[in-house]
Amino acid sequence: MDKPALTTSILHADRRLGVEHGGIRTPIHTSIQYGYERVEDLIDVFQGKRKGGFNYARQGTPTTAALESKLAALELGRGAVCFSSGMAALTAVFLTLLRAGDHVVSSRFVFGNTHSLFTTLGTLGIEVSRVDAGSAAEVAAALRPNTRMVFVETIANPGTQVPDLEAIGTLCRDQRLLYVVDNTITSPVLFRPRHVGAGLVIHSLSKTIAGHGAALGGAVIDTGEFDWLHCPNIADAYRSADPASWGLLQIRKKGLRDMGASLSSEHAHQIGLGAETMELRVRQSSANALALARYLESHPAVDKVHYPGLPSHPQHETARRCFGAGSWLLSFELRDPGSMCRVINKLRIPIKATGLGDTRTLVIPVAPTIFWEAGAQVRAAMGISDGMVRISAGIEDTDDLIADFEQALAD
Ligand SMILES: *Cc1c(COP(=O)(O)O)cnc(C)c1O
Repeated sequence: MDKPALTTSILHADRRLGVEHGGIRTPIHTSIQYGYERVEDLIDVFQGKRKGGFNYARQGTPTTAALESKLAALELGRGAVCFSSGMAALTAVFLTLLRAGDHVVSSRFVFGNTHSLFTTLGTLGIEVSRVDAGSAAEVAAALRPNTRMVFVETIANPGTQVPDLEAIGTLCRDQRLLYVVDNTITSPVLFRPRHVGAGLVIHSLSKTIAGHGAALGGAVIDTGEFDWLHCPNIADAYRSADPASWGLLQIRKKGLRDMGASLSSEHAHQIGLGAETMELRVRQSSANALALARYLESHPAVDKVHYPGLPSHPQHETARRCFGAGSWLLSFELRDPGSMCRVINKLRIPIKATGLGDTRTLVIPVAPTIFWEAGAQVRAAMGISDGMVRISAGIEDTDDLIADFEQALAD
């Protein structure tokens, strides 16, 4: 798969837009309102006839627009819309493109809060079938006449299951279904979902795209792979525009307006700063994760390691083909689950915290924290054991991390 010069494409993007005084970054625009000398210009902005025009910051600012154009470039897409968090981006996609009576097929192994959102969709009359997407045949078997969308995450957190990304893409193309891929864990550095036919790509920008853990954000990118003429839920107001723009237009207009979870200029700026070093960070954190996975797999106190970069992982071949690496996310299970807290407490470098894709390594026991509210039944269905520990590898020196785990696991 081709990997265009990803970092180069975004490093110089702001400067090339022509920032005043030769600034190298789009400024943090703090205005909520945008005024015009001629009222006709204001009218044109409202009617979408003036490209790049702004009227009210809930619908975007020049600073969020600069980040959107970088995200579109990173995912080889035709456009992007930013939100105040990854969950806001997901909510906007589901609530603006689906209506009561529609059906969605999703991987069973999804982010806990996405799982919770699916439960909410159910109460609104949008049914979600959850299948093992490691098999495209299971996805195919779950399709119904009213299925509108197939949703997967590239690498599931915390179990690291990988869907059959390519075959599901072929299925969606044949069935003219919208294929939505949450690429948060792999990032555009390891994977471009467009290459497997995804129509929409979703990101939590709070994770590896920002990398610093200093700003929440989310985004939806339209890759241009889906023909929106096949989406029956586009409102009449948007059907006069070019059909290629329908999806993102409705997600932006209705998503930001109805739900109002808009990204602030300050956070867009912070995320843009982080994105400049994303590629370097992902390379180092993924190398650290692989080293930790190998080390833990060989350790007698460890029962299982879940990491797509290991040949022992059930979807190792898919991960190798699609991502070329296993990412920075791994989890493991101790032989003695009762020793879990003792081992984690002995770690000196990783932070005992939730969160993912940070420059610092983060460690968390999964069952009693992020999956506690979900309950034992959901945990079992998602392959989460009581002794599972999640690691989000950071960019520390590899030897320091290994040495720290070595001392923590020693009796
Ligand atoms: C964190 C995360 C989200 C939600 O993003 P927030 O910015 O925390 O709201 C969605 N999907 C995945 C895969 C995530 O890891």
